[in-house]
Amino acid sequence: MSSTVSLLIIGSGPAGYTAAIYAARAGLQPLLFEGQQPGGQLTTTSEVENYPGYPKGVLGPQMMADFKQQAERFGTDIKAQHVIGVDFSQRPYRVWTEDAQYAARTVIIATGASAKWLGLPSETKLNGKGVSACAVCDGYFFKGQTVGVVGGGDTAAEEALYLANLCHRVHVWVRSDSMRASQIMQDRLSKKDNVQIHWCTEIEEILGEECVTGVRMVDKRTQERSELAVEGVFIAIGHHPNTSLFASYLNLDTQGYIQTHPGTTRTHLPGVFAAGDVQDKVYRQAITAAGTGCAAALEAERFLIAQSL
Ligand code: FAD
Repeated sequence: MSSTVSLLIIGSGPAGYTAAIYAARAGLQPLLFEGQQPGGQLTTTSEVENYPGYPKGVLGPQMMADFKQQAERFGTDIKAQHVIGVDFSQRPYRVWTEDAQYAARTVIIATGASAKWLGLPSETKLNGKGVSACAVCDGYFFKGQTVGVVGGGDTAAEEALYLANLCHRVHVWVRSDSMRASQIMQDRLSKKDNVQIHWCTEIEEILGEECVTGVRMVDKRTQERSELAVEGVFIAIGHHPNTSLFASYLNLDTQGYIQTHPGTTRTHLPGVFAAGDVQDKVYRQAITAAGTGCAAALEAERFLIAQSL
């Protein structure tokens, strides 16, 4: 086992790299594990137009290469490894990768979350070409157009409301005859003239070759199939936070997100912090992930100072 590091960061998305930049500049010499998706979720998208500092927009992979370069500049030790196990039962905390075991006085978990998908081949083929899991990220690209949202929970209702302010028409496909979304969200949706809810309806296929041109849907009550022209399809059926490794040590909420003390990135374990989408089911944006990454690094630094007094 290598010697104990002051700070170990798990994840290389905006949260992990921002934590690394702040921690490295504070002299903590952080060790960061990139995981199986170096650069995180933004490496799967093309244009990012809402991250401040890029007035002309930036390609997601380029933005994450910039984050990495900035983290390296101040001496972050970045390892292309995936964490396969942790032991947070005593300090220093232990972390395993395929190759080695590490010990750390503090840990920042920034392992993100993954969108749930329908699992249709056409959805994979057209991902980023009209298929999206984030209206706040991609809705603007469909301004004035006709789009659809798959899902019946609060997230789907929120996505539909956001899109209703931008798009000409918004279809919402709900699998059952009622929505799980809160009544207040449903009331807001019903007040939107340009939102149409299709009850008991599933999307069987997303249509299009180079970009989305429509969907084929099936009415579960009658088994009747029909096609509808749309330019964008937003899948809003939930996210999986990447927290299974930590489940026996940290408090997770009912959806598996790491619980932190309100207004902080502190978990209930001293010296273990969580930043980014892994603890945020509300905003799920690069800027908020970066913001909590910064907060986690500052909290880790203050924790280490307090420990050494
Ligand atoms: P992530 O970016 O999810 O990174 C998680 C990191 O953890 C990855 O590097 C992964 O390899 C690592 N990891 C996971 N498990 C382990 C492990 N066991 N060991 C080591 N490492 C591990 N947001 C915007 O603000 N603007 C946009 O335009 C935008 N567009 C988007 C487009 C798409 C297609 C998607 C999917 C998301 C988009 N988002 C956008 C959302 C944004 O990408 C996320 O909010 C942000 O990336 C979250 O950052 P994060 O650091 O918390 O996690």
